[in-house]
Amino acid sequence: MAYLQFLGAAGTVTGSKHLINTRDDSSHNPGLQVLVDCGLFQGPKEWRLRNWEDTPVPARDIDAVILTHAHLDHCGWIPRLVKEGFKGPIYATPPTIDLCSVILTDSGHLQEEEARFHNQKKSSKHHPALPLYTLQEAEDCMHLFHPVSFEESRQLSPQLSFRFVRAGHILGSSMVELFLGAGARARKLLFTGDIGRVPPQPDAPGRVVLAGPERNEDPEILVMESTYGNRAHPHDDVRPHLAQIISATVKRGGSVVVPAFAVERTQKFLFLLKELMESSQIPRVPVFVDSPMAIKAVEIFMKYAEEFNEEARRLVQKYGSPLNWEGFHFAPKQEDSRKINDIRYPCIIVSSSGMVTGGRILHHLLIRLPDPRNQVLFIGFQAPGTRGDTVKSGAKSVRIFSEAVPIRAQVAALEQFSDHADTQELLGWLRTFKAPPETTFLVHGESEAANRLQQAIASELGWNVKVAHWLEKVQLG
Ligand SMILES: [Zn+2]
Repeated sequence: MAYLQFLGAAGTVTGSKHLINTRDDSSHNPGLQVLVDCGLFQGPKEWRLRNWEDTPVPARDIDAVILTHAHLDHCGWIPRLVKEGFKGPIYATPPTIDLCSVILTDSGHLQEEEARFHNQKKSSKHHPALPLYTLQEAEDCMHLFHPVSFEESRQLSPQLSFRFVRAGHILGSSMVELFLGAGARARKLLFTGDIGRVPPQPDAPGRVVLAGPERNEDPEILVMESTYGNRAHPHDDVRPHLAQIISATVKRGGSVVVPAFAVERTQKFLFLLKELMESSQIPRVPVFVDSPMAIKAVEIFMKYAEEFNEEARRLVQKYGSPLNWEGFHFAPKQEDSRKINDIRYPCIIVSSSGMVTGGRILHHLLIRLPDPRNQVLFIGFQAPGTRGDTVKSGAKSVRIFSEAVPIRAQVAALEQFSDHADTQELLGWLRTFKAPPETTFLVHGESEAANRLQQAIASELGWNVKVAHWLEKVQLG
């Protein structure tokens, strides 16, 4: 009998991997085994160790991967799956494929760096410590990707077809409508991947791409994310806050350092800075974007201008690509990056990693944190235990390159930038459904968030809703 099994993002927000097996015992049909998403486990060690375990179904027996979007917690295990013997097609939207080519290779590079670090420090019980996959292995898996446009139906077998509809989360992000069986007995499953802000928020500015997931859905089985199942985002306009923070910093002769994830978040922030400068709400100080991956991501964004929302489209029509904006400097090479360190006049530095776990942002903070005129501005989630979290939570110092760096700079965080719908937005989206699903499974949330969302859906909508468990199997017959 056909079944669905949760291989990741159950009880946690990372490692998204859902297996659909269409085997029909009655007809001796071997069926198809398909993965929706193939994400990396990140965060606490107990989860990360699962990246080293084989899938319950051997990788070589999996026929295809259907990918919702290019975030690592949804796509980052693909090179490992290929390394374990997977040879099938990976279906994704064209922008997702382009973003994966940047994100997966960068991940391979980081995996190699981490292994090298452990070997130097002899800090792993494995000798030698090995990368989960290499940059080369990540590059090699790109030839398995097959582009599928939004709303184009793909038949994978007589029993199984799918199509992508918009999730409004990041560039190219999709939900997967999966159809099992044919004719009157066909069943529709909807995998949300990550869900963008709902409905398009006029007060969540800086969005570059279209926001909001497809409405009026009607699946029998819904597999839904619950990242912010227990949270409300601030719904006020972030622009006045941002303008005030930047203007005050420049006035006291300081610089603003912004740790930001290189894909999507950095692009959003740049569009917002441009808008504020052009409307004279902030002074025209130089902006340095110090992340090679962010530059590649800008190029990919420009390729898919049809995905932009009205605001972003107007900015690009008027001012062209961010790569050519006057006063915006992109630092592709190490030496360009080092030159920023010598700048003593007010400027804005955007660099990654977004949670200050590594990358060029470390150098900028090392230099700028001890000066009280400077400002550190967080525009993304800071996971517990990361350096970003330490700085954000008001610590007096933080360790960077084995040095205790005093934190005298001002520190602020703006929470409006989230790419995920919050609880009320999720409920609002569910209210657009044509009919309640038979069962809703909540994935991609910490237990607390998933449980709270379960209660909210059950009490406010009266739906049958469960929190998915790792390796749980659901019969689909
Ligand atoms: Zn995501």
